[in-house]
Amino acid sequence: MDLLIETVRRFVDREVRPTARALEHADQYPHALVERMAELGLFGMGVPAEFDGLGLDYETYARIFEELSRGWMSLAGVLGTHGIVCYVIREFGTDAQKRRWLPPLAQARLRGGLALTEPQGGSDVANLQARAHKDGDGWILDGEKQFITNTHEGNVFVVVARTGAAGAGGLSAFVVEKDRVAAGTLIEGKPLGKLGYKGVKTSSLTFDGCRVDGDALVGGEVGHGFQQIMSGLEVGRINVAARAVGVARAALEDSLAYAQERVTFGRPIVEHQAIAHKLADMATHIEAARHLYLGAARKKDAGERADLEAAMAKLFASEMCARATLDAIEIHGGYGYTDEFDVERYYRDAPLFCVGEGTNEILRTVIARRLVRT
Ligand SMILES: Cc1cc2nc3c(=O)[nH]c(=O)nc-3n(C[C@H](O)[C@H](O)[C@H](O)COP(=O)(O)OP(=O)(O)OC[C@H]3O[C@@H](n4cnc5c(N)ncnc54)[C@H](O)[C@@H]3O)c2cc1C
Repeated sequence: MDLLIETVRRFVDREVRPTARALEHADQYPHALVERMAELGLFGMGVPAEFDGLGLDYETYARIFEELSRGWMSLAGVLGTHGIVCYVIREFGTDAQKRRWLPPLAQARLRGGLALTEPQGGSDVANLQARAHKDGDGWILDGEKQFITNTHEGNVFVVVARTGAAGAGGLSAFVVEKDRVAAGTLIEGKPLGKLGYKGVKTSSLTFDGCRVDGDALVGGEVGHGFQQIMSGLEVGRINVAARAVGVARAALEDSLAYAQERVTFGRPIVEHQAIAHKLADMATHIEAARHLYLGAARKKDAGERADLEAAMAKLFASEMCARATLDAIEIHGGYGYTDEFDVERYYRDAPLFCVGEGTNEILRTVIARRLVRT
């Protein structure tokens, strides 16, 4: 697997880093880079080989997210919720659902997204309002989702909707293919303008009497949606932590190079202790965050519960990345604040790690609850 990671690293150095700045500033979807990721098999990282995927372990999977994010975090975004869709179908889908969706997802003929968050709130998942009601042998979905990544370029979504009473037990997950529902019943909003995470599109998704067939219900039974998605988010959090490490690593690499070139008071700024110590702290914190996400991934690989470790990894890595990207701007001085260097992009991308896949406030609660209960 180290060979695959090495291949991705080369792809990032040769093809991503030279092009990301222009694509990002133009907020352009990176079609050519996404095609290359498909050629490398990255859309099937978490899909077993029997369904045409690479069948990677969680550790390798996360390390690839780190490598991609070192080049451009949005590329990992294209694969992030796609991977959660694959995970949910792989872990909880019926045999028929796995045969139907996993091969095209692995081959990138279908590209996935997760439709969980709603306009009135993303943290309080148990109280989601979108509804699904039975219609003959199918289901009809109604409701609005907000902040959904991979709309527009994506074509299959795992959608969480209420099929029963209030609370987590009343939620179910559905696989909805954009091109297989009646026109006008699944409406994508205009892409949101964002601080960072550009290129990849994020928008609302409105379901207006959107009919799907009976096979769309994940696992074939109602009431398991909350647990299915929370399990998917555990993997998502490990990958967000890995992305944060990748962005922080890019910030460190750029800062190290700049600190050895830029001369003030007659010597390279790396020889000023204040700058050297910033670099030392960045490198140390990156290493610590990497150990946290690798530890969580290894627990998942061993088949153990890893919600505590995934939450800790995401919390620590995201806050570390926010600090490291600000340090990188400071090390670059005035130039760091301009769009002629990449550090301003890293700084704009970093806050999403604190908010996405469970805000850090919610994760602190998750961690504290687990500490008290164990
Ligand atoms: C660029 C981007 C892409 C995204 N992509 C997706 C996607 O693909 N699919 C998807 O489903 N969602 C996606 N999201 C949504 C994201 O997961 C939510 O924004 C996040 O879960 C927070 O939900 P919210 O924005 O509704 O904030 P709210 O839930 O309204 O929270 C607002 C603030 O209150 C705090 N808060 C809320 N409740 C508590 C509490 N009990 N204790 C302490 N603090 C609390 C929160 O931490 C936060 O600081 C995306 C968001 C962004 C910005």
